[in-house]
Order: sequence, then C-alpha cells, then structure tokens
Amino acid sequence: MECAFVGKFCNTLLVNSRRLKIKRRAEMRSHSKFYSSKFKITSVLSQANHNPSLQVATEKQGSPAGFGLGEWVWPSPGDEIPFWMNKFPSTDLSPEVSADIEKDSNLLHIIHVTAEMAPIAKVGGLGDVVTGLARACLSCGHTVDVMLPFYECIQRQEINDLELITTYYSYHDGDWVPIKAYRGLVSGVPVIFVESSNQFFKGQYVYGGSYNELEAYLFFSRACLEWMQVTGVHPDIIHVHEWQTGALPLLYWDMYHLLSLKKPRIVLTIHNMEHYGECRKEQLGKCGLDGSIYGTEDKAVDDLTIGHNPERLSLLKGGIVYSNAVITVSPTYLKETLCSGWLASTLISNRDKYFGILNGIDTVIWNPATDVFLPAKFHAHKPKGKKICKHYVQRGLGLECSLDDNHVPETTENGPLIVCITRLVAQKGLHLITHAIKHTEELGGQMIVLGKASDGRIQREFEDLANLHNQGSSIRILLMYSEELSHMLYAAADMVLVPSIYEPCGLAQMIGMHYGAVPVVRKTGGLADTVFDMDDLSNHEMANGFVFEGIEEGSLNSALDRAFRYYRDKPDEWNSTVQKVMEIDNSWNNTAGKYVKIYNSVRVVC
Ligand code: ADP
Repeated sequence: MECAFVGKFCNTLLVNSRRLKIKRRAEMRSHSKFYSSKFKITSVLSQANHNPSLQVATEKQGSPAGFGLGEWVWPSPGDEIPFWMNKFPSTDLSPEVSADIEKDSNLLHIIHVTAEMAPIAKVGGLGDVVTGLARACLSCGHTVDVMLPFYECIQRQEINDLELITTYYSYHDGDWVPIKAYRGLVSGVPVIFVESSNQFFKGQYVYGGSYNELEAYLFFSRACLEWMQVTGVHPDIIHVHEWQTGALPLLYWDMYHLLSLKKPRIVLTIHNMEHYGECRKEQLGKCGLDGSIYGTEDKAVDDLTIGHNPERLSLLKGGIVYSNAVITVSPTYLKETLCSGWLASTLISNRDKYFGILNGIDTVIWNPATDVFLPAKFHAHKPKGKKICKHYVQRGLGLECSLDDNHVPETTENGPLIVCITRLVAQKGLHLITHAIKHTEELGGQMIVLGKASDGRIQREFEDLANLHNQGSSIRILLMYSEELSHMLYAAADMVLVPSIYEPCGLAQMIGMHYGAVPVVRKTGGLADTVFDMDDLSNHEMANGFVFEGIEEGSLNSALDRAFRYYRDKPDEWNSTVQKVMEIDNSWNNTAGKYVKIYNSVRVVC
C-alpha cells in the first residue's frame, strides 16, 4: 500500500514535471541531486511512511486536495522534483492591485539606482526594499524607475516587455565604453537595465564575479547619470542605495550638475553600514573623478584609514556627505549608528539630514491569503490553511508530523516548528543559530534553516551540521537560496528566529509575523522596533514575540524556553498571539509616505 502510494505520488509529479521548462529541469536535476544525496534524507521518507498516522492520512486523504486544495498533492523527500520547484501560477503584481491607498497630490519622478532588486537580482533585504518602496510610490501616483546593472545572472523570465531603448557610451578608465540600456517591467515596476560591453556584471551571482566589483559599481554609477544626460530624463529624485552607488552623489554634484543635469536631488538609503566601499584614490579616478580632492575628513576619507599609508576613501561616507538626505532603515539603527562605528562622526556632522525610517514589507508579494507558493491560503481570521502549510512542509522535508481524527494537522502535539531564513554571515548570529538547532531538538521542537553562505568556511561548517542533523526527523538545514521555499517556510512556521548580533531593520521577522509565525529575536536595530516581549508587563498591548538581549547562548535559551512554554501550555494565548502578529501592519503602505515626505523636502520646484 505504502509503495503503491509512493509510486502513484511520484507519477503525479512526473506528469506535472512535463509542464516544466527545460531550464527548470536542469535546475531541478542539480537541486535534486544536491538535496537527496548530500543530506541523505530519502531514507526519512520511508521512516515517515512507517508512521501509522501518516499511513491513515495517505490512504484516506492522499493529497492536500482532500482539504479542498485543487491540484496540490502531498510532497515527500523522495520526489524527483523538490516540492518548492514545482511550477507555480504567476501573480498579478501590477501596483494598482495594492492600491487601496490615496494618490498623492504632489507628484514626483523618482529613479532608484541600485545593485539589487527583488526578485530578479535579490541577495537580501535591499532587493525587497527597492521593489516594495517603488511599488508603493507607484501606487500613490508617482513616476518611478529603477536602474540596475544587467547582470548576466539576472532572472530574465521575471522581466516583462523587455526592449532596447538607448545605445550610448559611458566613461571608464580613460575609455568610452559602449552601453545598451533596456527597459522592462518587473513586478509592475519599470526598470532600466544597464548593459556594458566590458566584463562587468558577468558571472553566476549578483556579487562575487571575477571582475573588480568596486570599479564595476563606479562605472555603473556614472553610466546611470550619463544615461539621464543623453536621454534628457531628469527626475526629481535620484535615490541611491548602499556603498555600491555611493559615488553617484559625488559624480552628480561635481560633474553632471555642472553639465546639464540641474533638477535632481539625491537621497541615499543605508541598509547596512558594515560595508562602506573602501576605495583607493586612484580607483576613484577610473570613473573620471579626481580622487585626490576627496581625501579630507569633511569629504570622503575613510576615517578607519586616517594615518595609514596610503589613506583610503569610503564611497559610503562620500555618499553621506554629498546626498541631500540620508536615510537608514530603522529608528533604533539610526541611534546605534550615531553612537558607534567608523561613520558615527560623519553621521553626527550630517545629523540634520539623517533620518531613520523603518522598512516595510510588500503585502501583495507577501500575502498568505493569495500566495501562489502555498498549498493552502490563510489569513488572521481563517487560519486553518496555516496548519496545512505546516503539514505540507513537514511531509515534503520528511519531518515528523501528526494528524488529528479529522485529518487536520495539529500544531501543538509535536512541539513548534521554528524557521530561520537568512544569509549565513556573522552579523546574523551564526553561533546562536547553531545553538538554537541543538536547543530546539532538546526541547522536542522542530527547526528548519534556509540559508546561503558566501564564505566557504561557513558553508562547510553548516554542511557538517546538515550531515549531522538532516537524517533525523526534527531538523533540516537547507543550504541554498529559494524564494519559493522561503514563502512556504514562513507559512509553515510557528516561530521565526532572528538572533542577529546587529540588524539594521530585518525583514524576516516582519514577513514571518505576516504569515503567523511568532518572532523570537535579539533586541537590536529594527528588531527592537518591531518585536516586543510577551512577558514585558509594561507594554502588554504591543507584545508580539520573544526578545533576548545578550549574545550568549543562555540568553537565547531563556527566550526559546519561554516561547515553548507559551506554545505548549497556553494554546489559547498562543493562538491569539498568532492572530495578533498577522494583523500588525508593517506594510509599505504604512511607511512609504515617510519617504515621500523626505523626497518632497529636498526636491526642487521649478
Ligand atoms: P538582509 O538584508 O541582511 O539579508 P533582511 O531580513 O532584511 O536581511 O532580508 C532578508 C531577505 O532575504 C528576506 O526576504 C528573506 O526571506 C530573504 N532570504 C534570506 N536568505 C534566503 C534564502 N536562503 N532563500 C530565500 N530567501 C532568503
């Protein structure tokens, strides 16, 4: 019976697989190999199928369609196509869809110049923020464009109406390099792709190609201004992000503003101060600026290198000094950055134009009631689908799961499911993540880590952990990037863990909450602005999660222990907390207006 079911199930997936594109097949093959051979979890499938309660479910229910879910079938770790790589319908993401917001009266033209944009070139939160903020401003009636390098690795299938719009030249290192500018639509946002004829932006990943990254972004920054000059497109606001585009404000005020670009004003958002674009003076010269004139404390000298031979420049510092307004991504991170770090004195001297605005999430892209990646949709007042999502993920990954008499998955019996979805870098509290895996197992819960490390040493460490844990039935460590799986995991999770050492804003806790996962976070940066402890009696109205302060394991333990106790011993309170976190409005609709206010405060009215 069991084998027959598995066979039938695999057949269904094979039929589905014929619908997949060839590229998807190739991805799937490499993924599948990685997934089942590396972590040997196929064996977990047979364990799961020996679970009597699961057998009942497979015989009587067979698929989530039994829960009224149309074509969905229960996945298993032995599937030829991992469940997050199935073909999903597309969503209508035209900005009007999210527009139950009033149109602004003072309309602006904003051009974002950025190294990332979700979903086509996303590495972390920067990509989400650019897309979400652009869509929110479009919904309010503003004109918005995004300028992005045309990375070789860009997900072209997500670009609509792509067309060549301009061919022109931009300067690099004594030469004028031919450029093609394309226009296309991504999630309803107009994007201008800058494609250079040199080696820049080639390779498999957004970052870390085999070209000089600093010089590539200097080139891109100038190429964007050059495009505005040759086309005569003069926006009100050029919105730059991070060190990668930090040279643009210098190029604007000291070069292009002296030529034909008069109208634009520059807004810089700093998403993370860890990387400040260290640059040698002669390197700055590659984009045509005289590096020697920027090496002073009031311009762009990198304070960290003062007294060194040679001193360096910081593109981020230059960007701060030369922009009309500087924004960072949460009020608490603003305070933290004024108190410590190499940029603190620059930020203090520019305090009157420095603001902290909490990021939002795009609640059209991230909406559990309509999310195309979820086997069952749900929302705060109709939460049943969340249990099905949990069960779906548990089965797909071979985690232990249970069904009640009505074949509806129960959440409290087996302990909570915790997810941690993150770039695997030191900032994210790696030792706390690895400790949480151990402690969750001790407490009888389940944990899934979805993460990607760019550092080989960290990657190997987590591979070892995966080999140790992935054969059991309570922990999965999945070392890859998958947008689809991230949606499913947020939906499946009872808790979302964000134990960052520092966190400028953090989107994972906000997305998690919107999908009904109660956050367990370290009190820092934007986490401190969005998560408030359940046991803080002075702030009961805001209470929505579990917060710890220290960076040692004991501190994390105490938060996890409390979260487990609530989950197991106070189911009613837990359920109302789940409902409460889903109802919190952390959307861009709530916060984009603060950006627009700053745009308006610096714009030039002609
Ligand atoms: P950061 O910008 O520092 O990476 P944030 O919490 O602000 O952190 O944003 C991270 C974004 O990237 C979230 O949308 C999160 O879901 C996503 N993400 C991080 N790692 C992965 C991964 N391995 N697979 C899919 N999405 C990921």
